[in-house]
Amino acid sequence: MSAPQVTPTPLQELHDPIFARHGVRLLVKRDDLIHPLISGNKWRKLKYNLAAARRLGHDTLLSFGGAYSNHIHALAAAAHTEGYKSIGVIRGEAQANPTLDDARAWGMQLHFVSRACYRDRNSGAFLDALRRRCGDFYLLPEGGSNALAVRGCAEIGAELDAQCPAYDCVCCACGSAGTLAGIAAGLRRGARALGFAALRAGAALEAEVARLHAAASVTASAPWRIEHGYHGGGYARFDAALVRFMDEFSARHGIPLEPIYTAKLFYGLYAVIQRGDFGRGETVVALHSGGLQGLRGAADRLAALRRTLTL
Ligand SMILES: *Cc1c(COP(=O)(O)O)cnc(C)c1O
Repeated sequence: MSAPQVTPTPLQELHDPIFARHGVRLLVKRDDLIHPLISGNKWRKLKYNLAAARRLGHDTLLSFGGAYSNHIHALAAAAHTEGYKSIGVIRGEAQANPTLDDARAWGMQLHFVSRACYRDRNSGAFLDALRRRCGDFYLLPEGGSNALAVRGCAEIGAELDAQCPAYDCVCCACGSAGTLAGIAAGLRRGARALGFAALRAGAALEAEVARLHAAASVTASAPWRIEHGYHGGGYARFDAALVRFMDEFSARHGIPLEPIYTAKLFYGLYAVIQRGDFGRGETVVALHSGGLQGLRGAADRLAALRRTLTL
């Protein structure tokens, strides 16, 4: 994709007595700074998909998502900056919110569909109906995770190799698992990957990593695992403890987080560091996958939880 973009994204060391006590070095890979509009891992997932769309002669990109979806937001921004038409098929009733307002302002056509229809989104009949209605399009799955997304995220490993010769583990938040699948396919020998589930998914996420590896015809170059204990009750659920952590983290390190993915990643990472999961002397890299636009959609719930913290 065209400039402005920042790759390799900056690698920033965090300092905290907790890390010192456990002998761990923590570096944050700032993919939140990758592009001013197309945020974080979504930029990496879109990179080769947009190249493929262009090669195949498409002028329209279509995908699916919830009303606050970072993927829909990034897709609309990418379509706008790269000169594509875009269509977002959105789960649930027609509504306006900052995420969808941005998407509309970038020219995305929005179609709201019932939850029942949405569940059917990958069926041939549903896609045929969309093509009859909207014309032909380049299709991206919900969350943007497909074989080309894996290829884009696998580049994180090569960037890290050039930036930091000795990392042991790369951690990321895990939603549709494309980012973890890519990271696990691109790390140097001797490193490992650790995903933190942002939703209650059970073994489905591990299966999804395996499916994406097969789809991309790659194998894991590094051992990988998913930590399921820090999703906070489910997708987009969060409580006052997470908000307190997120606010303290941002104040201490000057790095903004959002509660859907990245706060859960760092909350979980602090917990497993304190549990002693990493060996002394190990260097851990955490991917800041961006998504800060989602803070706006969570603002009311965040404010309400912050009020309970100051009582
Ligand atoms: C989409 C998203 C994720 C999840 O990435 P997957 O590849 O779907 O697992 C993580 N962090 C942020 C900020 C996201 O927007």
